[in-house]
Parts: sequence; C-alpha cells; structure tokens
Amino acid sequence: MDRQELQKLRDLPIEGVAERLGLRVRMHKALCPFHDDHHASLSFSVRRNTFRCFVCGASGGPIDLVMKYLNKTFLEACRWLTDSPLTPPCEGGEWSPRQQLSTPSPHRGGQGVESYARYFEHPWLNDEARHFLYDERRLDPRVVRWCRLTSWKDKRQVPWLQIPYYDREGRLVGVQNRNLGLTPIPSPKGDGSLTLQGEVGGSAPRFRFPQGSECGIYNLPVLNLLQPGEALYITEGCSDCWAMLSAGHKAIAIPSATLLKKRDVAQLSIINSQLSTKFRMYPDRDEPGERLFLQLQELLPNLEHLQLPPDCKDFSDYYLSHKTAV
Ligand SMILES: [Zn+2]
Repeated sequence: MDRQELQKLRDLPIEGVAERLGLRVRMHKALCPFHDDHHASLSFSVRRNTFRCFVCGASGGPIDLVMKYLNKTFLEACRWLTDSPLTPPCEGGEWSPRQQLSTPSPHRGGQGVESYARYFEHPWLNDEARHFLYDERRLDPRVVRWCRLTSWKDKRQVPWLQIPYYDREGRLVGVQNRNLGLTPIPSPKGDGSLTLQGEVGGSAPRFRFPQGSECGIYNLPVLNLLQPGEALYITEGCSDCWAMLSAGHKAIAIPSATLLKKRDVAQLSIINSQLSTKFRMYPDRDEPGERLFLQLQELLPNLEHLQLPPDCKDFSDYYLSHKTAV
C-alpha cells in the first residue's frame, strides 16, 4: 500500500468509519465501545478527524478505531477499510425495540422475557464476544448492532453472548445465551473429531434460555425492510443468519437442527401469505439439512434450493471461506 492510499484511509471521515463499525453517532458523540459506557463518553473531532474517550482514554484516527474495535493489525484494518461496503447490509437498518408492556401477554399465560429488554437497550460486547463475532465469524459490525447482540459474565466469569429474539413489531419474545467460554478441543475418543470444552465455560451448558423464552423464528424485524421483489433467505440457526446478513442478504433463521414447531410453521405460513417474495435457502450439506429444506418447501412452495460448494458444510463456512479468499 503506498503513501497516497494510506492517506486516503486516514482521511476517511471518522464518524462515517464509526458508523461502519456499528457505533451510533449523535452530535459528535457515541457510547464508547471500549468500556461499559452509558453516557456517550466517546467524542469525535471532525476537524482533526479523531476520536477520544474521556473515561478510558482510548483515542486515535480512523485506522486506530478499526484496529482497536475489531482487534486487527494495522494492515488488516487498512484492508477492512478498503473492502468493507459503505452501504449497510441491513439498509435503513435503524430500529428501536418496542417498549415492553409490564403485563405478560395473555397467550403466554406465564411470565415472559419482558424484564430482559433493558439488557438490549445499550448492547455491550466484551473481549470474548468481539473475538467470537469479529475474529472467528468475521461479521459486519452493523449486523451485530442490528441484531442488538450483547454480552455478560456470570459469577464464575463464564462469558456469554446474549441474543435477543424479537417479533415483527419489535417486541422481545425470547433470549438465547451462548457460552463463549468453550473452545473446540480434540475429542477424547481420539477419532479426530472436536468437542467443546474450556477452563472457564466447561462446566456450564453451551446454551441457556431464560424462563419464558420463545426462541422461534429469528430476525423477524428484517421483514419490515424487505423491498418489493427482494429475496428472503432462510437459514438454520442465528449464526448462519448473521453470516447471511453480513453477506448483504435479508435473512431470517429457523431454530437449528430441530423439527419445526407448530408455532413456527404457522408463522412461516403467515409470512408467505403476506409477502409476495422469493424465498431462498442454502441447505446444510447433510441429510438433516436436505430434509429440512423439503419440509420448508411444503410451506413455501417457491422456496429456491441453492447449493453450497462441496467443501462447505453450512453457509457460515461458505461465508468465511469467501471472506478469506478476498
Ligand atoms: Zn471508553
């Protein structure tokens, strides 16, 4: 990279770069992503094209911001700035969750997850969450913001990613916690397969759902952004959904590797009757994946079958191999 190109990156408007990283800039300020901030301590100087946090001391220019936020080296950050698309993957993708009603909705009969809504008002990603989402999964930060992913640690310091499920109107209906303290290690069976274990997360389950969670179809608010004639992708599980969104497609996810529940089937039928849209799916390259596709095709007759290359087991794989190739 020559000096001129480098200068171009240094001259990229700092607030625009912050927005590409998923930060929400208002009046030259944003919530600082480098500490658990609730008061918009990060300031931008448009004149000097720099950022500075008055609480934790983080500061620098556009390249520093990308390096620090995405844990990237200088060269990687330059490449990210050159390659990352300017238009958000979820165009017009700003939305606020609906205010929760304090009374549980009658159809649930019991306590829902309304009390969790406040955790997603100011999503905050700890180091483990950023490593998982940006280093391992290479997601677009704007997708992470759109999905309002947040993180926390329990009393034993196990890091968790907290994933909210909203209905189409933006009401929180479910919460999924994913254990980030687990790392893949060779299976004790010695057959070359991997199991998940970890010093911090090992004694906790991989997923946790608070009582009252209804984690059915994921990312329903995206339906409100769908343009006439635009295809809607169906993925299996939220990880594939994030990859699909980061690849620039509109996507919803059905719960991973399970048979469809009655409620999800009903929801899909409603979506099919309300939207005159094409549905597309890359089934996982295995028997359950194909079975799921056939099951969905009965509900969505115009569901198109897309084929993953032979060396990719699911869309996340495909997205990552494509990302690495770029
Ligand atoms: Zn700070």
